[in-house]
Amino acid sequence: MSDEQVKLDALVVGGGPAGLAAALTMARQGMEVGVLERGDSCGSKNVSGLLYTTVLSDLLPDYLDSAPLERPVSRRTLAFLDGEAHWSATFGAEAWSAAPCNHTHVVHRPQFDRWFAEQTEEAGASILDSMVVEGLVYEGDGPGKRAVGVQVRDDEPLYADAIVLADGANCLVTESAISELGLAKGKKPQTWALGVKQIVALPREKIEDRFNLDPHEGCALDFFGSPFEGLVGGGFLYTGRETVGVGFAAKAESFAARKLKPREVLDAFCRHPVVRKYLQGGELIEYSCHMIPESGYLAIPELIGNGVLIAGDAAGLVNMSLYHEGSNHAMASGRAAGQTAAKAHAAGDFSKAALQPYVSQLQDTFVMKDMAKYQEIPEIMDALPELFSLYPRKLCSLLIDFFTVSQQPKADTQKAAIRKFFAGLPKLQGAHNLWKARKLV
Ligand SMILES: Cc1cc2nc3c(=O)[nH]c(=O)nc-3n(C[C@H](O)[C@H](O)[C@H](O)COP(=O)(O)OP(=O)(O)OC[C@H]3O[C@@H](n4cnc5c(N)ncnc54)[C@H](O)[C@@H]3O)c2cc1C
Repeated sequence: MSDEQVKLDALVVGGGPAGLAAALTMARQGMEVGVLERGDSCGSKNVSGLLYTTVLSDLLPDYLDSAPLERPVSRRTLAFLDGEAHWSATFGAEAWSAAPCNHTHVVHRPQFDRWFAEQTEEAGASILDSMVVEGLVYEGDGPGKRAVGVQVRDDEPLYADAIVLADGANCLVTESAISELGLAKGKKPQTWALGVKQIVALPREKIEDRFNLDPHEGCALDFFGSPFEGLVGGGFLYTGRETVGVGFAAKAESFAARKLKPREVLDAFCRHPVVRKYLQGGELIEYSCHMIPESGYLAIPELIGNGVLIAGDAAGLVNMSLYHEGSNHAMASGRAAGQTAAKAHAAGDFSKAALQPYVSQLQDTFVMKDMAKYQEIPEIMDALPELFSLYPRKLCSLLIDFFTVSQQPKADTQKAAIRKFFAGLPKLQGAHNLWKARKLV
């Protein structure tokens, strides 16, 4: 390295929840840290719905005072849609509206990530916006090959002892590092879901009126059924203070297989009478698409190489069950990566062996335990696409048929409804599939 080359203790690729949690943790341990973010500001390119804050509350215990949180999720709904009909189950608790609000908030990621970046800067890290990392710089060969820096687009390389890769889903830098350092041996290839979301502005009173909320309450609704016919996935609707986020996530390859366009699916979802009534008169202010890693536990690469730690979506750490937990996993893994890097810094050893505590520490947390618990979900989703549209539709029409008022004797109505429910399902398959579906919860 020449005298003019810039070298820090650690460089973090990506200023999302994983990268910022890692940078904050390392900066607090006195390390000189730079976060390289390709967007104009952290979060400018990020999309998500709910933010689970258990890890954030450890990292920044006063976050409720200053973080730009939209509304707590005090009520949740699971809804099944069929044509123009619907069936839903709603649950919630008063306690979920009071701090810490069940650690679940609706956020706008551009605002939230910018705030998180400010906290990280206050802790001493440098946030370097508009810096696109094109790849890593390596030294050595074979098992001794190690990452020593990053190549930034249109700029000189930057060097560091530790590099935390937190470039999110569809992460070209991490993918190339995994291949250069041989970190995916024996792992399943990663596949992706496509998340599509739009934000609709509505006056605060309208939102509270339509969703039956007090000013300090919010809600999250998950949808399955007819608007997503043929896709492996479902929709969501979250209330912000003066906005409603509406979107869906589905296996990317199921769009191609069904020749469906994401925008058209979203429009069909928004036109469903249940959804339309919530959004009516609103102004569309943002539309975004983003990939979500969906292969689960068996596709998680080795999380460390010489000089490298991988965290968050870049490592595929998303829980694709009904909990949809990504950003909390990202922060937990970023924090663990930062803690290990700080120990390596103190010991002056950034070899793969010295970074091993990151892996063992993460194995002991809810992140890896949950990823392991839900490891069969990708297979279930592939094997039983009907769980996402056919069954929700059938369940919905069963209830509608049961409660449609007529002069027919109830026994006949019920028999006909049950016969219709099972029509088209091979014998016993329904029960067998529902038994398998328990693993989604
Ligand atoms: C539609 C949708 C809905 C979701 N809903 C939820 C939800 O309800 N709850 C939940 O917990 N999770 C949800 N998620 C998932 C959640 O958003 C992610 O798990 C989380 O953002 C992962 O954080 P991260 O820091 O690993 O990656 P990201 O948040 O993606 O951050 C990565 C950062 O790296 C930057 N970057 C990428 N490449 C480069 C490069 N070459 N150079 C420099 N910078 C780079 C990006 O600009 C970005 O800022 C949702 C995702 C989508 C798409």
